[in-house]
Amino acid sequence: MIRRRFLRRFLRGGLRLDADGWVTGAGLTPSPNADARPVGSAVSLIVLHNISLPPGRFGGNDLLKLFANTLNPAAHPLYPALARLKVSAHFVIRRNGRLVQCVSCRQRAWHAGVSQWQGRHRCNDFSIGIELEGTDHMPYTARQYRSLNRLLDCLCRHYPITAIAGHHSIAPDRKTDPGPAFDPSRLKTPVRFKAKA
Ligand SMILES: [Zn+2]
Repeated sequence: MIRRRFLRRFLRGGLRLDADGWVTGAGLTPSPNADARPVGSAVSLIVLHNISLPPGRFGGNDLLKLFANTLNPAAHPLYPALARLKVSAHFVIRRNGRLVQCVSCRQRAWHAGVSQWQGRHRCNDFSIGIELEGTDHMPYTARQYRSLNRLLDCLCRHYPITAIAGHHSIAPDRKTDPGPAFDPSRLKTPVRFKAKA
């Protein structure tokens, strides 16, 4: 029975989360910008973001360098300020759908900043952050939605996820991502995308 379930998941391209919180098959660019989740903070929220570095340019590795603290400040006029930040997300989904993991799901990534969801502050404590390579106004690719759906399917099987929200929904005064370009109707997970807390 277990074998048949595994085979079915394998055939439809399902992802698996290992005991240490890493998705098997994802690319790996570890970020040091992470720490332990506070005791009692079970993962219940997924936060969607977008990022591109330089802004609006796709395919380079600067966004992964930002999370790895290896961004070259001289490479772009915006980078000196960015290079001082200590930020991360658990996952990045590139324009071609490639999934990269930067932080174990068991750890707290630093993606949300000052935030609140349904009265709970510090969303980093109880969320998983997923960055879509993109901008607020450029449609995300079909491969990104496919990869995102596979990842959400995996995460929702492992954690009691109650909502999927955008960064703008948990920090509306500061953030706009993933922006109007994100089409929640393309999510196939039973957990709904909620635009508001
Ligand atoms: Zn964001």
